[in-house]
Amino acid sequence: MQPQIIFLKEGTEASQGRSQIISNINACQAIVDCVRTTLGPRGMDKLMVEAQGKATISNDGATIMKLLDVVHPAAKTLVDIAKSQDAEVGDGTTSVVLLAGEFLKQMKPFIEEGVHSQIIIRSVRKATAMAIQFINEIAEKPKKDDEKELRELLEKCAATAMSSKLINQQKEFFSKMVVDAVMLLDELLPLNMIGIKKVPGGALEDTLLVAGVAFKKTFSYAGFEMQPKQYTDPKIALLNIELELKAERDNAEVRLESVEEYQKVVDAEWTILYDKLEKLHLSGAKVVLSKLPIGDVATQYFADRDMFCAGRVPEEDLKRTMKACGGSILTTVADLGDSVLGTCQHFEEKQIGGDRFNIFTGCPQAKTCTIIIRGGAEQFMEETERSLHDAIMIVRRAKKNDAVVAGGGAIEMELSKHLRDVSRTIAGKEQMLISAIARALEVIPRQLCDNAGFDSTNILNKLRQKHAQGNRWMGVDILNEDVADNMEKCVWEPSLVKINALSAASEATCLILSVDETIKNPKSGEGPAPPGRPGRGRPF
Ligand code: ADP
Ligand code: MG
Repeated sequence: MQPQIIFLKEGTEASQGRSQIISNINACQAIVDCVRTTLGPRGMDKLMVEAQGKATISNDGATIMKLLDVVHPAAKTLVDIAKSQDAEVGDGTTSVVLLAGEFLKQMKPFIEEGVHSQIIIRSVRKATAMAIQFINEIAEKPKKDDEKELRELLEKCAATAMSSKLINQQKEFFSKMVVDAVMLLDELLPLNMIGIKKVPGGALEDTLLVAGVAFKKTFSYAGFEMQPKQYTDPKIALLNIELELKAERDNAEVRLESVEEYQKVVDAEWTILYDKLEKLHLSGAKVVLSKLPIGDVATQYFADRDMFCAGRVPEEDLKRTMKACGGSILTTVADLGDSVLGTCQHFEEKQIGGDRFNIFTGCPQAKTCTIIIRGGAEQFMEETERSLHDAIMIVRRAKKNDAVVAGGGAIEMELSKHLRDVSRTIAGKEQMLISAIARALEVIPRQLCDNAGFDSTNILNKLRQKHAQGNRWMGVDILNEDVADNMEKCVWEPSLVKINALSAASEATCLILSVDETIKNPKSGEGPAPPGRPGRGRPF
């Protein structure tokens, strides 16, 4: 009798071999089906409800994937590539998931027939490299030094990114605003220098761009109304100090002999506060912002001396103000020189909708701006914010790297044709594999048609014919259920979006194809296994 050898913990699940790859591919397919219908200008939105009942409406691939809370280990890869696409270029998150899914789908029959995954992986890598090289060859580069042309390019790219979102009716309005916002930034184009605030009420077109820092008026005490609400060239003190009379600690014990002594304790408290206030006043600062509360005594003190103050300013806003207006965030008022005080050309408190905003414009240091989104429902404004984020990322990318390709499936069809042509020159298994990748690329135009309710077979046949004739930028015409030259139609996308999507999708494909065994230990991560029969195999 042979003894049974068990080397993994009880309850461990392991599956391996070809069937494992197939089952991973199937899991990925299920994920892709979730986001499939959101692609493109006629894509649908998804309403996601979390455990706490929070509802999110979104069209953004990365947001949907994040909220899906996928547990399948292989399918999680797709969530990761959507996230990385979002972080790297901001747009094309649905496309990347769709492409990866389609690559896998096309490779599945080969796996089933017994082609070794390493051969498939090599071909996928090769096809991707050829596709990326081809994009770089054919991408069009408008002149960068021509200010007007560059602006036009950026606006077109922003409009294309937004045309698939809820706000596509207002895309002209928003694409101008997004380009303005990005133009305000400095060379490095830091994303966190564009603040986005949401104020319920008003129409979407009331959304405004402030060339500077703006944040919601903070909680204030009596006396605040007497403070001036406008300054030109004010000095700004940014503090991390509480300007409030401290209540005595509950558990402190002070033994006093007389009333006078008690009075002294109280006076000391006041003296400390007044001392700080006086130093602030003498420094010449006109606007005092603090992360911590500013109490009623201080508010009144500032009001009497023609100064403005705001306490409990959110940290990120305070930091943005510091970056924009200069100065530093102080934890003591001991040394209030000009070098630690910020300044700006204009400060104002303004009513926007139901809220009041503190607005700083003409900031000397960093270039920054704030977009104040107006609109009806909370979820609608959140989706607007996400859509603006996509567009901002695209404009930043396009500004740094100004090559563009035509969207609407045009570039994918051209790549598909190119790969198919190349594959014919290769002998061996690779020919089949590369032409399968070429077929996979057609998923983007096909899905764009399906989502718009067009006959995809018909349109794809037309597109193949046009591309074979050398019409490089022919893509799906969403408005007329036809094909059109999308370069002329100004459906432009930065070539970087496509390059990144392709390489991320191919990485994910290779990763999933190269996994042929999953070992899942249900107890791992739950602390030590319960005592009993350690490692003794199956229960009797
Ligand atoms: P992603 O998250 O991948 O950006 P979208 O839902 O934004 O997904 O859809 C992007 C796709 O829609 C791209 O392939 C793009 O070329 C295409 N697209 C955008 N605007 C148009 C348009 N006006 N006509 C045709 N296709 C468009
Ligand atoms: Mg998009």
